[in-house]
Amino acid sequence: MVPFVWSDDCLRHEPAAEVWVGVRTPATELPARAVAIRGSLLAAGAREVTAVAHDDSALLEVHDPELVGFLRTAWDEWSASSLPSDRVVPYVFARPELTGGREPTTPAAVWARPGLFAYDTMTLIGPGTWEAARAAVDVALTAVDVVASGEPLAYACCRPPGHHVTRSLYGGSCYLNNTAIAASALLARLDGPVAIVDIDAHHGNGTQELFLGRDDVLTASVHVDPGAGWFPHFLGFAAENDEANLNLPLAPGIRDVAWLAAVQRAAEFAARAGALVIALGVDAAAGDPESPLEVTAGGYREAGRILGRLGLPTVVVQEGGYDLATIGPLVVETLAGLEEGRTRR
Ligand SMILES: [Zn+2]
Repeated sequence: MVPFVWSDDCLRHEPAAEVWVGVRTPATELPARAVAIRGSLLAAGAREVTAVAHDDSALLEVHDPELVGFLRTAWDEWSASSLPSDRVVPYVFARPELTGGREPTTPAAVWARPGLFAYDTMTLIGPGTWEAARAAVDVALTAVDVVASGEPLAYACCRPPGHHVTRSLYGGSCYLNNTAIAASALLARLDGPVAIVDIDAHHGNGTQELFLGRDDVLTASVHVDPGAGWFPHFLGFAAENDEANLNLPLAPGIRDVAWLAAVQRAAEFAARAGALVIALGVDAAAGDPESPLEVTAGGYREAGRILGRLGLPTVVVQEGGYDLATIGPLVVETLAGLEEGRTRR
């Protein structure tokens, strides 16, 4: 089985809740997700590699230092301010139109500062959020180390996820873009371009925006059509496509055949790359509470085979997937498919 990278610190983020349409609802991006995946991997005989601490250089290639600095201190500042919420949550947003495009002033009020960096109200920060998000970066970078040292495949078993984070804004239950950081680090180590194929059920909007206009990182995303009313709502349309970006939005309720045809198109798009990062969300699966795509476990295995047949050095980074009963087996199926695709090309 594929080696997988793990850090106990990824369990330290307990979002507790999301604020959605003004209502506090129970969180779905839970530490138990990673625990379940790890259990399935170990049961399948996968080899665990402990994450190694990396300095901030790869992180700062991708994210603004102001965002990183905010995330690092947000909980400490919030919790010292006797506010009535037990999590950092924005209430006013520094949209560029608000300031005529001028740099917004950093607010004096601690409770206004999240509005400089957050783009939704769902993505709460509490004790341990920074430590877990930063550990997820180390997990992804350790997986890059494994592949750069000659292993054909490595899987970063990390959370919180990252593909919704842009250079300077966090949201979508994501804080730091682990997938983008892995791609950037891989590009520095292996021959490019690097392709990112995102098969999470939701558009990888952060990753797309981070590499917009670049030809050394190719981005492809297979996801439920935001035009049908799904997150991230404002992005993920085919109209955003160009030579280095491919969005494949799919109607709610599609099953394996149409989903796999889109994965095949994404694989063909990625074929000219020298290395591959897979943003592996398993929330496209039937039964997942967060999306209406109806992909089976066999579909995920076949997606693995399709991407494995590319024969590229590959780092797999965990993104979404919220059904605790199936998340582990779905990851195992995908990784097994990747190995089968590589060996039976
Ligand atoms: Zn998702």
